Amino acid sequence: MYVRDLPVSAAVREHYRASGIEELYPPQAAAVDAGVARGENVVAAIPTASGKTLIAELAMLTAAGPALYIVPLRALAREKYESFAELPGVSVGISTGDFDSPAEELGGEDIVVATAEKVDSAIRNGATWVEELACVVVDEVHLLGRERRGPTLEVTLATLQRRAPGVQIVALSATVDNPEDIASWLDADLVESTWRPVSLRTGVYADGDVDFDDGSSLAVDVGTVGADEEEDTEATAALVADAIDAGGQCLAFVRSRREAEALATRLTAADLDAGAFGSADVAAEITDVDDTGTARRLAAAAEAGVGFHHAGLVSEHRALVEAAFRDRELGVICATPTLAAGVNVPARRVVVRDLQRYTGEEMAMLPVLEVHQMCGRAGRPHLDPYGEAVLVGDERTAEDLWERYVDAGPEAVESQLTAREALRTHVLSVVASGFADSKAAVLDLLDATFFAHQSPDVDLSGLLDTVADELAGMELLTVAPDGDSGGASDALAATDLGSTVSRQYVRPETGARLLEGIRTIESMPAENVGPLTALGVVCATPDMRGTYLGNRERADVYRFATRHAAAFTTASEDADDFEAWLCAVKLARLLDEWSEGATIETLVERYRVGPGDVESHVERAAWLLGAGDALAATLDADVRIFESARQRLGSTGTDGVQRPSR
Ligand code: ADP
Repeated sequence: MYVRDLPVSAAVREHYRASGIEELYPPQAAAVDAGVARGENVVAAIPTASGKTLIAELAMLTAAGPALYIVPLRALAREKYESFAELPGVSVGISTGDFDSPAEELGGEDIVVATAEKVDSAIRNGATWVEELACVVVDEVHLLGRERRGPTLEVTLATLQRRAPGVQIVALSATVDNPEDIASWLDADLVESTWRPVSLRTGVYADGDVDFDDGSSLAVDVGTVGADEEEDTEATAALVADAIDAGGQCLAFVRSRREAEALATRLTAADLDAGAFGSADVAAEITDVDDTGTARRLAAAAEAGVGFHHAGLVSEHRALVEAAFRDRELGVICATPTLAAGVNVPARRVVVRDLQRYTGEEMAMLPVLEVHQMCGRAGRPHLDPYGEAVLVGDERTAEDLWERYVDAGPEAVESQLTAREALRTHVLSVVASGFADSKAAVLDLLDATFFAHQSPDVDLSGLLDTVADELAGMELLTVAPDGDSGGASDALAATDLGSTVSRQYVRPETGARLLEGIRTIESMPAENVGPLTALGVVCATPDMRGTYLGNRERADVYRFATRHAAAFTTASEDADDFEAWLCAVKLARLLDEWSEGATIETLVERYRVGPGDVESHVERAAWLLGAGDALAATLDADVRIFESARQRLGSTGTDGVQRPSR
């Protein structure tokens, strides 16, 4: 099938030809055969780089109305936005802040790119543009199996189908074990394929050799491993050096931020031939962003053609590393697994050094799907003759790695909706948004979710009773028994507080914490209430991501808490969880210093957090302070401190953190 056969405008056909697309890849042709350009629902479960973007574009360009493209991550939204904006004759909008937003800002474009959270939030805030949608494309739909994002995605899809009856749904998935489940849920045709434009061989390293799944092998010159060296790191370094010598770029995956930086240091010190890639310009761009130790280390590595990438970096640094790699100004990126779930950074060779990760309780093997996503990054279409992925093992582990990740397929995608927390959030939101006014109506809506499709025999009414009672206990919902018709049709209504919580896009538990905080503040002597008070309240909510508390910091944070005890709404002896309470105090103190004008450099140094952590803490705190203010207004409480603390913190834009003006 050729581009000239496609039912799109001549200008669009020309655009494809100009970008080197003449003939459709087999999975693309299969999607067209399945009706993706005729309004049919299609699920495409195909490997990375097999051309999903074109499939999505065909659906959106041929739809009889506006289209929505749902991405899992903000960084991906920008990438997709840029690619759709090149389509001739099409207007594209983007909305990526994860949180609350004006309801209508997404209307009026041919294509809107947004995160699932953004769409969910827009729906809760009464957006009517979703009713006009003719086509919804869901990228990375296998994330339905993720703990928090999965339930949001399935409830949002179920709601969208209700709000825009007959809307075409196109879902793009990595190769998973049960794509047919997703397809039958969405009443879609399934296009499933393992075809890739560049061949990929995957192998396991052990004891000086890599054995690949195509029967070939590669000798790796690890040299003598010194007493203070680790064989897996030395093997990784040798594999990277070998690829770079042959002119290919590499991605090396390790388990933690610290390991990513340590490997980058090791590679920078090595006599790598990455100099061909290294760039003083990139280094200068990195130090232009800020002057933290992280930036200096990253810049020094970049000069030698080495990058690192993890969540502790500010988003601007992450974007710079990704772009420099795509422009061949970096020979290698040492990354945590999150890079594999993000933007497009294909490489000749992928080396996965760490196949285990600390879960907070124990070391656990990485999911197969995640490892396959990393390996799938190997081999750049049109540029590399082939791609190679190497899992680093040793004599003891090699066989297990082979069985687990090379021979076996990925896991099945399973709904996470019945997690009580997820259900609380979504039950409140469907009631508050007016989609359901009784338990029966909620159950009816839940019946359209992926969960109900996967587990048709599970009766959710018992769970719904519990969740509704919990929400009522939090003052967010009222439950009115409906005469003699039994529990299943009890009337449900959101309280004013419940509506505010839903619209502000905070979890019900966060709403309850904020309410508690507001009431305590009302009873405190006015002279004790300050920005630290409001920050203390929001930092103790579950929507504020926690922080780490070093042993040496503990005493210092405790002293700070004691000194400022009068300003906090919760005393240490009243905290349910002392450790979490201390972490909240630490965060509140960090944010208070930020508000006072402390630089990111100082905070990173003083609190041993990554610059990227400061960025995300500030952004989250600003959002939660806004929610606190809205709840205080709903309660009619004379509490203004949330808004003034928010202003002091500085406004945050969707593109990152803006420093407060002072
Ligand atoms: P993914 O499936 O990972 O989303 P993309 O849609 O980004 O993959 O496509 C990967 C690359 O392949 C892009 O550079 C794209 O331009 C190119 N490509 C897609 N379809 C074709 C085709 N039919 N012929 C040639 N190149 C193509």
